[in-house]
Amino acid sequence: MRFADIPGHEDTKRRLREMIDAGRIPHAILLHGQPGTAKYALARAAAQYIHCSRRTPSGDSCGQCPDCIQHETFNHIDTIFCFPLLKKNSKPTICNDYAGEFRDLMQHDMYMNFDTWLSSLGNPNGQPAIYVEEITALLSRLNLKARQAKYKIVLLWLPERLRTEAANKMLKVIEEPFADTIFILTSDSPASILPTIYSRTQRIAVAPYSEAQLSDILQQSMAVDPQVADAAAALAEGSVTRATNLINVDSERRKYISFFMELMRAAWQRRVKDLRDWSLDIAALGREGSLRFYEYCARMIGENFIMNVGDDRLVAMTPDERAFAQKFSPFINERNVEKLLELFSKACADTAMNGNAKIIAFDLAVKTILLIKRGNE
Ligand SMILES: [Zn+2]
Repeated sequence: MRFADIPGHEDTKRRLREMIDAGRIPHAILLHGQPGTAKYALARAAAQYIHCSRRTPSGDSCGQCPDCIQHETFNHIDTIFCFPLLKKNSKPTICNDYAGEFRDLMQHDMYMNFDTWLSSLGNPNGQPAIYVEEITALLSRLNLKARQAKYKIVLLWLPERLRTEAANKMLKVIEEPFADTIFILTSDSPASILPTIYSRTQRIAVAPYSEAQLSDILQQSMAVDPQVADAAAALAEGSVTRATNLINVDSERRKYISFFMELMRAAWQRRVKDLRDWSLDIAALGREGSLRFYEYCARMIGENFIMNVGDDRLVAMTPDERAFAQKFSPFINERNVEKLLELFSKACADTAMNGNAKIIAFDLAVKTILLIKRGNE
């Protein structure tokens, strides 16, 4: 990762560059700021710049010397990645076990979306942490002399997730640093870092992106339409991660409303063959996707019921959803609403239990035929 590969953050790049050029590199640097910026990429670029043997006159690593090549392929022998993990069978795991997954994250998302990391760890609701076992392993590795470069560099992602025992052990190294070791910490939430660690770091705030920068990033690195990019950038509060989430949620919701409309129309017209095709499409969404879709349907049923019996100002729908609901909501009433909600919640439960996705979707479609008819009686 070269500084030039990272959009924006010119102030932070300049500060890092000046420190490194002057040979006044602190033993512990903390890059901090809200999630969704390129903090971790900046840390990686700084490490590569420190190790590079042919820095460019413009103040970047060369990208071609042996050290740079090892950095670019995530194989630099004196660069250590340290990041939060989940326990497995109630035992802590260590970063080496997840090196491949972490490399994927760094490679595909320089903004380090934490939700992506949770999915790679196999639990979207987990609370990953850095355990003392990790720091013990790290220290024994640091006790060996640097093998190639002048400095060993530890890139520690999210020091706020160090468990107390791990943080205390880490504090000792920061208080009495190894001469040849540099820690670069990147934090989304510096207020949650152990204060004694926090106060011993050289802190550099990383500013959120401006709306214009965000929109440029979306258009240039993710090929998002200018109009969509501007709209997402205006709502994303400087975070690339939030902006891409907004865009994904929006496209997912459009896909879901079309599946929902197809289900209800085909059920009303009793097109069983089409419902069978529909259930294949739903199964193809995968387990997480079908779960989200069934939850979406349940919400749509609820919104349509409110629209039918209550005040339609109470419903939160997109224009597409509202257009469909104008015609559809009369079919959702006290004769079927409860059973329909049960149907979708059972589909969720069966999907969560790893039932056969096609059977679950088709069974739900067939029962919807009867329930929609009941609503019209
Ligand atoms: Zn180089």
